[in-house]
Amino acid sequence: MGSSTRGRELLKDPARTKSTAFTREERDELGLRGLIPYAVSTLESQTERVLENLRRKENDIEKYIFLMSLHDRNERLFHHVVVENIDEILPLIYTPTVGQACREFAHIFRRPRGFYITPEDKGRIRAMFDNWPEEDVRVIVVTDGQRVLGLGDLGANGMGIPIGKLALYTACAGIHPRQCMPIMLDVGTNNAALREDPLYLGYPHERLAGEAYLELVDEFVAAATDKFPDVLIQFEDFLTPNAYALLNRFRDDVLCFNDDIQGTAAVSLAGVYASTRATQKNFKDLRIMFLGAGSAATGIGDLMAYALEAEGLTAEEARRRLWFVDISGLIVAGRDDLAPHNLPYAHDHPQAGFLGALEEIRPDVLIGATGAPGTFNEAVIKKMAEINETPVIFALSNPTSRAECTAEQAYAWSQGRALFSSGSPFSPVVVNGQARRPGQGNNAYIFPGIGLAALAARAKHLPEEAFLTAAHALAHFVSDQDIAEGALYPRLSQIRRVSLHIAVETARKLYELGETELGEDDLDGLEAYIESLMFKPGY
Ligand code: NAD
Repeated sequence: MGSSTRGRELLKDPARTKSTAFTREERDELGLRGLIPYAVSTLESQTERVLENLRRKENDIEKYIFLMSLHDRNERLFHHVVVENIDEILPLIYTPTVGQACREFAHIFRRPRGFYITPEDKGRIRAMFDNWPEEDVRVIVVTDGQRVLGLGDLGANGMGIPIGKLALYTACAGIHPRQCMPIMLDVGTNNAALREDPLYLGYPHERLAGEAYLELVDEFVAAATDKFPDVLIQFEDFLTPNAYALLNRFRDDVLCFNDDIQGTAAVSLAGVYASTRATQKNFKDLRIMFLGAGSAATGIGDLMAYALEAEGLTAEEARRRLWFVDISGLIVAGRDDLAPHNLPYAHDHPQAGFLGALEEIRPDVLIGATGAPGTFNEAVIKKMAEINETPVIFALSNPTSRAECTAEQAYAWSQGRALFSSGSPFSPVVVNGQARRPGQGNNAYIFPGIGLAALAARAKHLPEEAFLTAAHALAHFVSDQDIAEGALYPRLSQIRRVSLHIAVETARKLYELGETELGEDDLDGLEAYIESLMFKPGY
């Protein structure tokens, strides 16, 4: 729809409508007189009406449906509502509610959004990209829906994830909605219950695998980068072996990253940096134990090893600080069931179960990324509290129902001493008469700022240093007040400032590494320049 759109068509154009906020002059000029009630609303009064409607909904999935309908009806109002009420809205458009929305995607579906690629499109993907109505796409979030949050294979229902992530790119870092493209690589699903659901909307076959799968992904990446030469591709919620395979396949040639591996790593590292201010320990002296050894945990481990090396440790010394326990126990040399990404951390050490490993390794920090709720039980938290005056505990599994323990449990079982962070939000808890605010290790603190840096600097690649820089930049934003409240992350209401700061620092680092088209002159005034690129939703 062009700018000549008028009348009813204009009211139906989600990118251009102001609905009841069209002024009297605009109503005359644009053929709207008679089509809108008399009163002229402001963006603020429309926002108030949206919030009133939202709060009237009885449960979170209804709130999600309401917000997505608003997104389809009036994009600027939607983004304004999100930006101005991020604390309330983020858990609805992202974890935890988006998990339920994905499970029910085929049943709550209203209107197509995003772009779908199936095996039947092989050989035609580049031509299909010409169907997309925008020319200047700068961020693609793509999933194949095989490991959605901690919920497993949800096939094409996983489309809720790229849609939610891109709404956060806009809300948190001001990436223009027109520059964002959610993509579902719908290669089938191995979830038989889904395939048998008569309302399922995806490609109803078993998943494409092996060479055929890689060929389709290759074609997608080649087509996307041909059509949109400056695009950043964010891989999201792929099964761990594929997540690593695709990252390793493309990271040297294509501007891309995997959020589950690298975004999670940076947000967790930032939390660990912040925790050392409360524990008064040196980062380079820490011993860290992970429960879970998949893409999230190993991604964090890899970045931490890199960060420890940056502090002067050898690669071997750095890796010896990091210990992993998976479903079969402590990861040690000689186990014959390990994936390639586990091998650097398979230390010479006797086999042990989780509790035994805690006792022997005596970690300062415990990080859970298992998707297995209840695995940080009373004995585990008590052991951490016995080893440490201030035990640092991250229960990263999403959504909330999958967290390794709740905030309340972490505080109760450590006599209120734990510094606790989680992947999904937990409400503040009163401990010994004092309110503690568990910080959320939400990737939304990192990926929007990384994306903004890549976009502003026209980055060529995103090397590991970019994520280390982003982690430092995020930790820098955690105030003494946050720490005093027990939070290892800033308040979400700060997120646009956080993203801008991360973008500036990361763009500067990319320049130093020769990874951008920035010139030296661009560095003065970089912050003002990047800020000027940020979309501020309004009429
Ligand atoms: P994955 O399937 O690759 O890995 C899961 C790992 O946990 C495996 O090593 C498995 O052996 C281990 N595991 C499973 N059950 C266990 C148990 N009972 N005891 C010990 N180990 C167990 O998954 P992933 O991609 O690494 O994601 C794991 C979780 O991390 C998910 O719930 C995801 O939502 C969460 N995650 C959180 C964030 C965040 O909060 N910022 C980011 C990414 C992923």
